[in-house]
Amino acid sequence: MDNAKLHVAIVSSPGMGHVIPVLVLGNRLATVHGVRVTILVITTSNSDEECRFLKTLTLSTLVRVIALPPVDISAKITPATAAVTQLCMSVREALPIIRSSIASMNCCPDALILDLFCPSAIPIAREFNLPVYAYAPTNAWSTTLFMYIQVLDKEIEGQYVEQKEPLRIPGCKSVRPEDVVDPMLDRNDQQYHDYIELGIGLTRSDGILVNTWEDLEPTTLKALRENETLKPAVKVSVYPIGPLTRPVEPSSLKSKVLEWLDEQPVDSVIYVSFGSGGVLSADQIKELAFGLELSQQRFIWVVRLPLDGGLSKSDDPLDYLPDGFLNRTKNVGFVVPLWAQQVEILGHPSVGGFLSHCGWNSTLESISAGVPMIAWPLYAEQKLNAAMLTEDLGVAVRPEVLATKKMVERAEVEKMVRMVMQQKEGQEMRQKMKQLKSSADDGLSNRGSSFSSMYNVLDEIRLNSRNQNH
Ligand code: UDP
Repeated sequence: MDNAKLHVAIVSSPGMGHVIPVLVLGNRLATVHGVRVTILVITTSNSDEECRFLKTLTLSTLVRVIALPPVDISAKITPATAAVTQLCMSVREALPIIRSSIASMNCCPDALILDLFCPSAIPIAREFNLPVYAYAPTNAWSTTLFMYIQVLDKEIEGQYVEQKEPLRIPGCKSVRPEDVVDPMLDRNDQQYHDYIELGIGLTRSDGILVNTWEDLEPTTLKALRENETLKPAVKVSVYPIGPLTRPVEPSSLKSKVLEWLDEQPVDSVIYVSFGSGGVLSADQIKELAFGLELSQQRFIWVVRLPLDGGLSKSDDPLDYLPDGFLNRTKNVGFVVPLWAQQVEILGHPSVGGFLSHCGWNSTLESISAGVPMIAWPLYAEQKLNAAMLTEDLGVAVRPEVLATKKMVERAEVEKMVRMVMQQKEGQEMRQKMKQLKSSADDGLSNRGSSFSSMYNVLDEIRLNSRNQNH
């Protein structure tokens, strides 16, 4: 059986941040490997944005996207129910619909791929005798921590954030207590227990596809394969298949921001954005603005509403900038409210730096464009990503104290921006980023490590299908 006859179903948990990486994976499987893909998107009553987005997509003709009927968990939650717990509930609620969707497919899939929040669907794959893989749209280090929390949970007493020593993961870089992912912040919250269960669930799949590549995380990937102390907890094959990033949107109209970039010198603009959900306090927005101004560097800044002060004052994010800021910076700055075409901006030759919250997608997009970063993590696993970018890869600078602990003052913003955009350190980081970009391109190329990793998964699926049919 060749790839053209393979059919893979991928299940996505609700939320744009989960749907987009799954679509990118599905599109890669179809366009590069010729696999037929059905994507089942779990939706809730809050999924209007996703449903609208799904209708606008141009994907390979081999990809079919099905938005499942919305699940309703409203009777089971309170305003205090944390995000991870809500996600786990939504996925459990959707299990009967996932089962019936697979049963009613004209052509039964040859394998199931589940996103990080869907391990509770593994028994469905087993019922249909399908191999089942998990997709971690993040790096290998945080995926390993995710699976290893079950061990840390038994070894460590008290809250992780109060530990004096780094959290050790055999064969991998240790995790500083202050850098732990959000669900590990409070061990008394239900979402911590749900998170452990999700991590254990991952290890019960037949393999985990991770959005990283061999040359980016050789030590962690080696530990996952060979470390005898780590193996008992994470006894599952890990396949680095990345970096998978969103392609540039085909658009005939050039946006104003891209036109503005065309007029700026090469590597002269710092792009500032905190992803789809990162918000700063009103005071921090002002301090960042003053810092950018003091740096005297060109910038594009995607400004969002602040965490505090919000709607009660104004629903225009630009109203939270310091008085006169827009006027004073009009020759060097371009401010975009709420949302910008990030992939296109980062790929523009005039962009020479990225001040980012270090979401993994933004990180990969910056690497794929060869752009050095200022790491300003806010939530989720971003602190781990920032630690990797600054300490292991040497492609980013970060504030002395985490922005979540203490306001980053204008002088420090100015210093970091100048360092990345003007100084020798920035040049070195840019050089290293370009090398990373080139290793990422190699990994994805035909016969590259990530291409081969994905090919091996498809080979396993093909073999299993052949055995089933005999
Ligand atoms: N993004 C964008 N424009 C924006 C903000 C974000 O296109 O103004 C995209 C960005 O390119 C990335 C995604 O949204 O693909 C954000 O994902 P990431 O993992 O970096 O952070 P998250 O939003 O999940 O915190």
